[in-house]
Amino acid sequence: MNMPTEQAAMISADEQAQTQETQAPYDKSDVTLRDRLIEAGILLDTGEDGLYGRSEVFEDIVERLNQAITMLGADQHAEVLRFPPAMRRRDFEDSEYLKSFPNLAGTIHSFQGNDRGHHRLLEALDKIVHIGEEEERSDDWMDQQKPTRLVLTPAACYPIYPLVAKRGKLAEQGAIFDAFSYCFRHEPSIDPGRMQMFRMREYIRVGSPEQVMDFRQKWIERGSLLVGLLGLPFEIDLANDPFFGRGGKIVADSQREQQLKFELLVPVATPDRPTACLSFNYHQDHFGELWHIRQADDQVAHTACVGFGMERTTLALFRHHGLDVEAWPAQVRQLLWGDKASLIEQGLANLGNKA
Ligand SMILES: [Zn+2]
Repeated sequence: MNMPTEQAAMISADEQAQTQETQAPYDKSDVTLRDRLIEAGILLDTGEDGLYGRSEVFEDIVERLNQAITMLGADQHAEVLRFPPAMRRRDFEDSEYLKSFPNLAGTIHSFQGNDRGHHRLLEALDKIVHIGEEEERSDDWMDQQKPTRLVLTPAACYPIYPLVAKRGKLAEQGAIFDAFSYCFRHEPSIDPGRMQMFRMREYIRVGSPEQVMDFRQKWIERGSLLVGLLGLPFEIDLANDPFFGRGGKIVADSQREQQLKFELLVPVATPDRPTACLSFNYHQDHFGELWHIRQADDQVAHTACVGFGMERTTLALFRHHGLDVEAWPAQVRQLLWGDKASLIEQGLANLGNKA
C-alpha cells in the first residue's frame, strides 16, 4: 500500500478517537442499530431478515451519496450503463460465480405447468395460506416452479463484462464504466449491514494491468476522501471474498497474498467487526480470459472495480451521526444536501489528482 492510503488510515484512526470521546450519539450496544432504525421508521421491517423497505430519508441519502460519487468520478468520463437487477443465466453460468459462491446466488423460478399443474399449485397453497406466522410452511406449491433464463445480479459489474467482450477489441486507452444496481446475496442475517438485496454503485476499469492498477489506487484514495468527508471513522484493509467450501480457503489465501482485494471498513452494527462499505478489486485477467476481452494489442484485458455499498454507507452515517439527519455535522450535511462540488473539488485538489 502506498503513502496516501496509509495516511488516510491514520487520519481516520484519529477521527475515530475523537468521535468516541466527544460525540457518541449512538448506543454502544449496537445489536440494536437495526431495531432503532426500524423503530424510527427509517428502515421498514418486512418480517424477513435482510429484506427491508426504505423510508424517504434513507432513499434521499442514498441518492445524494450517489450524486457525490458521480462528482468524485467526473474526470473518468465513464460510460454510464444501467441494468435491471437480473442477468442472463447463460452469462451467469459462464461467469464462474457458482464455482466460488454457490451459496450466495439467487436464481429466478417461475410456474411453467399446465392447467392440471395450476390446480395442484392452488391446492397446495390452500393448505398453507391461513396458517400462522410462527408455523413452518410447506413449499409443495413450488413443485412446478422451473428455472427461468434469468438470475439475480450478484454484483453491479457482472453484466458489464460480457457486454464489453461483444464489442470487440478495446481502444488503446481501455474503457471505464459506471454501473449501479440492486444486487442479491442469499445470506439472511439480522445485521442490517448484511442485507439480501442492496445497491452497489461501481466504476469498472478494463484495460492493461497498468491502467487497471492505477485506477484501483486512485479509487482507494478517492473512496477514502469521500468517507472522510462523511465524517466516518474508517480503515483500509487487505481482504478476501467469502469463497465457498474447503477449496475456498486456498483461493481466499491466494487472493490475499496477491493483494487483489482491499476494503474500506467502517464500524456499523458490530463495533469489533467493522463492515466493508467500499471495496477495491483487481480481478487480474480472470474476466478478460472468461469473456475473451482483448486489449488493443490483442493481449487479454485486465479488469478492476470499485464498489460503493450504498446501504452500508448510509447505515454507517446513521450509526455515527445519529438518527436525526438535521443534527448531523455541518460538513456532512454540506456534502449531502449543500454545495458538494466545492468540498469534492477541494478534496481532490488535496489528493493531488488532476481532475
Ligand atoms: Zn465489481
